[in-house]
Amino acid sequence: METYDSTLRPRFSQILAQRETELRAVLRATTEQPHEAGGTGQHRVMDLKDVAMEQALATVDEAKAGHALLELEEVLAARRRLADQRFGHCLDCGDAIDLRRLAARPAAALCTLCQGFHEHERTGAMRR
Ligand SMILES: [Zn+2]
Repeated sequence: METYDSTLRPRFSQILAQRETELRAVLRATTEQPHEAGGTGQHRVMDLKDVAMEQALATVDEAKAGHALLELEEVLAARRRLADQRFGHCLDCGDAIDLRRLAARPAAALCTLCQGFHEHERTGAMRR
């Protein structure tokens, strides 16, 4: 199994920084709804069709913003781990995380085994 080593740090730093920028852009776009910008003088006059469209988009955006916020927290945590040399190791068992997993999901905090265990645990808790 290939694992992360410090020579890959600039690469992951770049990937995570880029992801953070993207997620912040998503959050900015989804939190700047026209109906929340009242009083700024930038409010556009819209007909009813546009309003319905805006509301439909706002609902989609809320879900998207929720996901983006969760992922942003993961990305920020991963960047902190990168800074203090803990990146690439599972937060639970401390084992090195498979590099292929990190390539697919740079913000991954757990190894495949622990992640699977947590998902199993969570599913089990919901069934109770
Ligand atoms: Zn683990």
